[in-house]
Amino acid sequence: MPIQMTVDKEKIKILPPPDPGWKVLRLTGFKPKTNSKKDGVNFNPVLEIENCPPDKNKFVFNSLSNKLDAFLLDFCHGFGFELEVGGALPGGFEGEPNDPKTWQYKGPLMGKTFEAECFTSTYNNRDSLKIKQIRCKVVGCKERHNTNWN
Ligand SMILES: [Zn+2]
Repeated sequence: MPIQMTVDKEKIKILPPPDPGWKVLRLTGFKPKTNSKKDGVNFNPVLEIENCPPDKNKFVFNSLSNKLDAFLLDFCHGFGFELEVGGALPGGFEGEPNDPKTWQYKGPLMGKTFEAECFTSTYNNRDSLKIKQIRCKVVGCKERHNTNWN
C-alpha cells in the first residue's frame, strides 16, 4: 500500500486576527526580500502582537520597503531609536549583499516592542491586521509621523 500524505486541516487553518486598534508589537525577526520591481528591498519584519488571544492570529504584516523612507523613520522611532546617519535602520544585516533572503538582522531593535494602531485588511477573503500608524517613542521628537500607512 502506498504511503499517503495526510494533512491535519485544523493545524493549517489560518486563525482570524484579533480586533483592530492599538497593539503592542514585538519584533522577532526580518524576512528581507528584493521587491517585485527589483529596485529595492522589502524588510518584511516579523511582528507579533503581545498578549494575543491563543485563538487569534498574532502576526501583523507590513512589508517595510527601503524605498519608503517615511515608514522606516516611523518604524525606528516607534522603538525609541533614531535612524543611523544615512537613513539606515540601527544595527544591520549580515549575509550575501546581493541576496537579501540570506540577510540576518543584527541590531538593537530585535526583541523590542512598539505601539501601533492596526486595521483589518481583507485579501482573498482572508482578514489580517496591518499597521495604520506607529506611536513615536523618541523623546522630544519633532518629526511629522504618518498617521495612515495604508
Ligand atoms: Zn518621532
